[in-house]
Amino acid sequence: MAARTLCEAGVRVVMLEAGAMWDPVNDGHMFDWNYDSPRRGASSKERPFGEFDGCIGGWDIEGEPYTRADGTEWDWFRARMLGGRTNHWGRISLRFGPDDFRRKSIDGEGDDWPITYKDLEPYYDRLDRLVGIFGSRDNFYNAPDGVFLPPPKPRCYELLVRQGCERIGIPVLASRLSILTKSMNGRAACHYCGQCGRGCATNSNFSSTSVFLPPALETGNLTIVPNAMAREVMTDAEGRATGVSYVDTISFQEYQVNARVVILAASACETARLLLNSKSSRHPNGLANSSDVVGRYLMDSTGAGVTGFFPQLLDHVPHNGDGVGGAHIYIPWWLERERTAFLRGYHMEVWGGRGMPGYGALNGVQHLNGQMAVANGKARSKGGGGFGLQLKEDYRSLYGAVIGLEGRGEMIARRENHCAIDPDVVDKYGIPVLRFDVRWSDQEIRQVKHFHETAREIIHAMGGTPVGDMPGAAENYGILAPGRIIHEVGVTRMGTDAKTSALNADCQAHDVDNLFVADAGPFVSQPHKNPTWTIMALAMRTSEFVAEELSRRNL
Ligand SMILES: Cc1cc2nc3c(=O)[nH]c(=O)nc-3n(C[C@H](O)[C@H](O)[C@H](O)COP(=O)(O)OP(=O)(O)OC[C@H]3O[C@@H](n4cnc5c(N)ncnc54)[C@H](O)[C@@H]3O)c2cc1C
Ligand code: SF4
Repeated sequence: MAARTLCEAGVRVVMLEAGAMWDPVNDGHMFDWNYDSPRRGASSKERPFGEFDGCIGGWDIEGEPYTRADGTEWDWFRARMLGGRTNHWGRISLRFGPDDFRRKSIDGEGDDWPITYKDLEPYYDRLDRLVGIFGSRDNFYNAPDGVFLPPPKPRCYELLVRQGCERIGIPVLASRLSILTKSMNGRAACHYCGQCGRGCATNSNFSSTSVFLPPALETGNLTIVPNAMAREVMTDAEGRATGVSYVDTISFQEYQVNARVVILAASACETARLLLNSKSSRHPNGLANSSDVVGRYLMDSTGAGVTGFFPQLLDHVPHNGDGVGGAHIYIPWWLERERTAFLRGYHMEVWGGRGMPGYGALNGVQHLNGQMAVANGKARSKGGGGFGLQLKEDYRSLYGAVIGLEGRGEMIARRENHCAIDPDVVDKYGIPVLRFDVRWSDQEIRQVKHFHETAREIIHAMGGTPVGDMPGAAENYGILAPGRIIHEVGVTRMGTDAKTSALNADCQAHDVDNLFVADAGPFVSQPHKNPTWTIMALAMRTSEFVAEELSRRNL
């Protein structure tokens, strides 16, 4: 986003990219069949979401470790390719609502943002028009409507979810995904192949590589340097940024790029790492870190899931379940103005249906056959299965008879949740790595308990049975490890006070006026809404500010 905005404003930009070049049209695998590969699409270390997935990277990158404080968990997903994780993200593109910018004023926890929804609203609107997003105008509290393309109709399993939720008074809305249901800005409408995670050869969904970088390159103002692992931001005697030093990941040689302005957008924690590794006599605690907040207030979304088994969907008649590569509906947070046992909220994402099965689909099917009274129209006894004819029957019968609900909730910002440089470990480029120290609080654990109870209630209201027992207090109600939802934010927070924040309200470092951040680092809170639409709206606002300041010769 920053590169496109700046290049179109006439600014010359050099983009350092740790991974290789990537073109979703030629490098993606949208049209491949599992049987085209001897691996049948199975995941690998550098493709944890499957062999054909659009993102190269993962939780565990060879030669690029990170560490954790004893007794803590944190899983850090990193992309290593042009366009980063936008090549395969879920495209759930929810705006933050007015209340999300002022939580401290509402419930006393965390902090308010230095900007309001009204400050960001015009950028959300322009982002919607530039990138394209579908949804329905619902006027739902604290879930602002956008400039929406028409939403696709709910599929069969999604109608069942809606029906069950209606029975117990839980609202269901059309999803808000950055996928084109009508052609727009020279990009074709989606043809409903359902393979968004692989990238889109018709550029019908959003990725940086399909929507932002081609127009930026067309201006002639953008130079992309691939395989360039930024090591640190260089500064002069006055402490201003002069450029970035980087390691070529092929030759391991070190290079430098000089610049009038440096914008960091390496993903929130990588940006914090770069700043913390950029120490100098003027910045002994790391760059932009006189406040000692860089790396602190680290947040992810809470995550937990429940799967339901639905006998009425057994032996399903073949029907057209085509759609976008994501759910057509979602469950927004419906108790915003009610008193609950925890602060903040969560939304639910939905999966199911009879899309093309990926490698490992219906894994564990042998555990379900005991719940089936019929298979392929024939009465059957319970038990058995796990191999042979009965296993095949189970697959045919069960395909499409399970539906999942996933909770994604807010984590409250707390100073002690942080990442810092590990003094003892460097990566294969000799760059010191991050050490994470993050814990859930009771708030998040109580929230996940509420999710589990409610998701089970929904499944029963839909006429199904939850698969497995509800996790109990000893397992923290099944909350996933922090970092697992891949929504890490907050480690270079913005604020009006230079003593308690790294950046001002324009995402400009308080300590270094020609240094900016354009990823999720500036977030002051992480509402349950997925972060990327807000990352992009903020990045648009920040880079327009930079272009304006450059044209006024203030930078
Ligand atoms: C499977 C999955 C599903 C997701 N679904 C959603 C969703 O539905 N909705 C949502 O809002 N979010 C979703 N997310 C999260 C979303 O992808 C991220 O919030 C978003 O991509 C973050 O953007 P970013 O530019 O900050 O980081 P990234 O997309 O990670 O990009 C960072 C870039 O910087 C490069 N880089 C890193 N370090 C360096 C360095 N030292 N030097 C040079 N270059 C470097 C990387 O190679 C990469 O290109 C999902 C993520 C995943 C993995
Ligand atoms: S579902 Fe639509 S947007 Fe997604 S990959 Fe297929 S054509 Fe592209």
